Amino acid sequence: NRRFILRRRPQGDPVPQDFELVEEDIPAPPPGGFTMRNVYCSLDPAQRGWMSDEESYMPPIPLGDAVRATCVGTVHASDNPDFPAGSWVMNLNAIEDYTAVEPGHFTAPVDVSLADSPSRFLSAMGAVGLTAYFGLTEVARPQKGETLCVSAAAGAVGSVVGQIGRIMGCRTIGIAGGPEKCRRLVEDYGYDVAIDYRGKDHDALRAELASAAPDGIDIVFENVGGQILEAEIFELAKKARIVLCGLISEYNAVEPHGLKNLWQVIVKEATLHGFLVMDYAPRFAEGGAQIAEWMQQGRMRIDEDVQHGIENSYDAFMRLFSGRNTGKLILKIG
Ligand code: NDP
Repeated sequence: NRRFILRRRPQGDPVPQDFELVEEDIPAPPPGGFTMRNVYCSLDPAQRGWMSDEESYMPPIPLGDAVRATCVGTVHASDNPDFPAGSWVMNLNAIEDYTAVEPGHFTAPVDVSLADSPSRFLSAMGAVGLTAYFGLTEVARPQKGETLCVSAAAGAVGSVVGQIGRIMGCRTIGIAGGPEKCRRLVEDYGYDVAIDYRGKDHDALRAELASAAPDGIDIVFENVGGQILEAEIFELAKKARIVLCGLISEYNAVEPHGLKNLWQVIVKEATLHGFLVMDYAPRFAEGGAQIAEWMQQGRMRIDEDVQHGIENSYDAFMRLFSGRNTGKLILKIG
C-alpha cells in the first residue's frame, strides 16, 4: 500500500521534502466497514489549507498521515454487505492505494454505468459543478443582463461558473493566465470577454476590467483573491455581490495579501459573501440533476486534467498553483 505522507507543514510553496511516499501493508477492513482501492484521487486547492495547522472548516491533516483527498475507487475487501467487494464508491480518503473505511464514514456508492469514466464523479458529477451551481445561483442570484466576472475562469470551478452565468443571461468576463487559456475562455466556455492577468500590474488590470465592464461588475465570483480581487472591487457596480469561493493566490503566501480597498465595498453598497459548498449538501441531488441536464443538452462542458501515478503526486498537485492544469485536476493511481 503506497501512501503519500505529509511529513511537515509547508511554509509558503510546498516543496517535495514536505512529503514522503511510503509503502505499508494493505489494511484489513474494519468491523462493519471495508477496505477501498483508491483509483482516482481529487487534487484540490483546499488540500493546501488542510496541510497547514490554521483553524479551518476541517481539522488539519495530521503529520505522518497520508494527504487527505476525495477518492473514487472499488471495494477491495468488505465486512459490510451494502458495500460488496468490486463495487465502486466515493469517499473522503487520502492519496494512498488502499484506505480502511470505518462504518459511518461512507459517502456514496457510484453507478459507473452513468458516466464514460469513474473520474467524472470527481468532476462533472462531483463538487466542481455543485460549487459553481450553488455559489452562483444561490449566493449571487444573478439577474438577466448582469455582468459577471470570474477569476481562475478557465479552471474547474471557474469554467462552470461562466457557463452557468451565460445560461442565466449574464454578460461574462473571465480572468485567466496566458493566451491559450484566454482563447479557451471564449471558444470553449462561452465567455464574452477574456482577460489575461499575467504580467499585468494593478493599473493595467483595472483598466482592462473597466473597459470590459463599463457599467461596473454586478457579480464577482472569486477564486483567486489578492490583486485580482482588489482590481475587481474598484470596478464594482452599485449593490454588487462578491462570492468568496476561494483565494488560491494566497494559499501559499507566508503573509496574506490584505485588501487595501475594502472601503469600496461600502461605497458600492456591495455584499461580500463567504461560501462553502458543503453547506448545500442536502441539495446536491438537485444541483447535480441540473448540471447533468445542461450537459446532456450540450450547453455545458466540464474538462478534466488526469495525471497518472502516485509517485507523481507532488508534481501533479503543484499544477494547481502554476496554472498548468486544464480542467478538473485528478490523479489516477490505480
Ligand atoms: P482550478 O482548476 O481553478 O485550478 C486552480 C487555478 O487557479 C490554476 O489553474 C490557475 O489558473 C489559478 N491560479 C493558481 N495560482 C494563482 C495565482 N497566484 N494567481 C492567479 N491565479 C492563480 O481549481 P478548482 O476549480 O479546484 O478551485 C478553484 C477555486 O475554488 C479555489 O480557490 C478553491 O479553493 C475554490 N473552491 C472552493 C470551494 C468552496 O466550497 N468554497 C469548493 C471548491 C473549490 P491560471 O492559469 O488562470 O492562473
